[in-house]
Amino acid sequence: MTHTKNAIVIGGGIAGCSSAYSLAKRGWQVTLIEQAQALAQGASGNPIAVLYARLTGNPSLINHLAIASFEFSHQLLSELNLSTVDYQKCGVLQLSFNPREIERHLKFMAGNPQKIAQYMNQTEASAIAGIPLNSGGLFMPNAGWVNPSAFCKALANHPNIHICYTSTAITLAATNDGWQVFSSQKLLAQAPTVIIANANQAKQFAQTQHLPLTPVRGQLSSIPSHIITQLNPLKTIVCGDSYLSPIVDDYQHVGTTFSPNDLETSIRDSEHIQNLSALNTITHVDVSQLNKTEILSQFKGRVASRCQTTDYLPLAGQLMNAQQLTQNPPRINANSESLPWIKGLYINVGHGAKGLITAPYCAELIAESLTSSLPKVSRDMLNVLNPNRFLLRDLGLKQLAKTALMYNHADAKHAKIVERSLSAAS
Ligand SMILES: Cc1cc2nc3c(=O)[nH]c(=O)nc-3n(C[C@H](O)[C@H](O)[C@H](O)COP(=O)(O)OP(=O)(O)OC[C@H]3O[C@@H](n4cnc5c(N)ncnc54)[C@H](O)[C@@H]3O)c2cc1C
Repeated sequence: MTHTKNAIVIGGGIAGCSSAYSLAKRGWQVTLIEQAQALAQGASGNPIAVLYARLTGNPSLINHLAIASFEFSHQLLSELNLSTVDYQKCGVLQLSFNPREIERHLKFMAGNPQKIAQYMNQTEASAIAGIPLNSGGLFMPNAGWVNPSAFCKALANHPNIHICYTSTAITLAATNDGWQVFSSQKLLAQAPTVIIANANQAKQFAQTQHLPLTPVRGQLSSIPSHIITQLNPLKTIVCGDSYLSPIVDDYQHVGTTFSPNDLETSIRDSEHIQNLSALNTITHVDVSQLNKTEILSQFKGRVASRCQTTDYLPLAGQLMNAQQLTQNPPRINANSESLPWIKGLYINVGHGAKGLITAPYCAELIAESLTSSLPKVSRDMLNVLNPNRFLLRDLGLKQLAKTALMYNHADAKHAKIVERSLSAAS
């Protein structure tokens, strides 16, 4: 292994492509390993994804992560210059369709420091949407939708990224100066740094099998535009209990269902009906008129698995050695550098239902940590994403989970500088 600025990224979805891109634009050479014949064949292969921050109203880190990653993804998409066929900032309305949402939205509006959303009453919201809505809600004018596959392709289309298709990473072997990634038959690539970004399948590696990742099946329904013409004038994305898109490529997209641990991948009429029924939290739709085989057979659908953690937050950063940690638990006040970090092994998974927003932001944090720049985010934010937090909490080291930093422990001097800068900032 010659060059230290070499990395292998495993997985060609949004997490893998954005991880590769964040390093490539910093001058790293990246080998991107994808088991399929093309990028974005997993959860990142849906025809559209909504790009918005689910605003909670609480001044929490979760809210902060939602807003920061929302802004980062839009900034990245402008940088990549995607055409309007693949990316549109048509605005997103989040309807106050039940008492819980009303409370959340009012709380958000009481703070709303970033002014990223405005409250619209039912008449105003309906005028913005172009169809009659059942309620008002928060309007985010800068939100919209993207074609995830086009997003992935644009990220991976960088001269420093070399893609190996039809290559399934099975084993990660540590060497003296880095990592070797093997398929069942051969060595696929070697480099000092590996970023695991293959969603639920991250659990297949010995180093990451302990991670609390749950597959959550989701089905998106795509309705040909001639079928529910009353919805056609829609100009924005509207979210109630499901979301409804304007016409994109002759279809209106409605979604999505949510079934934890359901690994079956066939398209189900029952889930089309479920998606349509949830539309009634947005506007009135007579589902009984649509629940007919000859109509449902014209729908398109796509099924994929989200990869969800038990606290619904991503896992992003450098990994620790789980075995060493459990066999030899550190003291509660152990300093970060003394913990069993695995040199050169990073992860970017667990993006649940918001990966088109959170994955690029996490990719950027990892790239920052690897390139010795000072972190642009707070210690608390880094720790919210710390991929070792569950291991540490299980060992009763809740406090350590909040202070152990992911910052490039391969470079002790840099880790100290970062530690000092974050301490000064907090
Ligand atoms: C129905 C549905 C609707 C959604 N809607 C939205 C939305 O509106 N907005 C939003 O932001 N998010 C949405 N999401 C979530 C979003 O799609 C995911 O969070 C995101 O795509 C996850 O990206 P990923 O790269 O982590 O995983 P994936 O896209 O699943 O990519 C993992 C990749 O790794 C590859 N891989 C796996 N194992 C190996 C291996 N051993 N070797 C090599 N390659 C391997 C796979 O082939 C795959 O390409 C939705 C998800 C679903 C299922």
